[in-house]
Amino acid sequence: MYGLGIAKGMLVVLKHIFRKPITQQYPEEHVVLAPRFRGYDFAWVESRCTGCATCAKACPQGCIDIVTHPKEDGRYAIDKFDIDTGLCMICGLCVEVCPYDALFMGRGFDLSSYNRWDLVVHKDDIGNRPQLSAYFRPPFGGQSANREDVDGLYQASTGQPKPEEAKP
Ligand code: SF4
Ligand code: SF4
Repeated sequence: MYGLGIAKGMLVVLKHIFRKPITQQYPEEHVVLAPRFRGYDFAWVESRCTGCATCAKACPQGCIDIVTHPKEDGRYAIDKFDIDTGLCMICGLCVEVCPYDALFMGRGFDLSSYNRWDLVVHKDDIGNRPQLSAYFRPPFGGQSANREDVDGLYQASTGQPKPEEAKP
């Protein structure tokens, strides 16, 4: 029948005219993120990291660069722990494989720079994140945290010993 298509089209238009808009005016309005959203502003707990480089080996993009040297007590001192967030595809594999729960995803997604090399975060810059993702470690989701908080939350939720005692 002639005109049926037009009527159907107009019905769709009418439905959308009276619907609440879902567009958010980013960056003035910030998007409400799911607690398990994976962002690439990682948090890293140096006191728990053994320098095993499992995270670096698991990274499909080769984003993580770790340099260590052996200490007298047989452990490794970590000279370099860099993550190239410009290469990162936010897969989370590095976080999942860490045997010592030393690496966490953040919730940042809009970090930017004019230079690619500024996207490499260094050892001393990874750590204090305003919010951690609940990805893989749900107890930390959406909470404000710094390195000490992460240690405390971990112990409270797992009942495991302090990081110093947990080290191999
Ligand atoms: S999230 Fe994935 S791509 Fe990014 S550093 Fe970790 S393993 Fe590599
Ligand atoms: S963050 Fe985890 S996996 Fe990576 S070197 Fe440290 S302990 Fe090993």
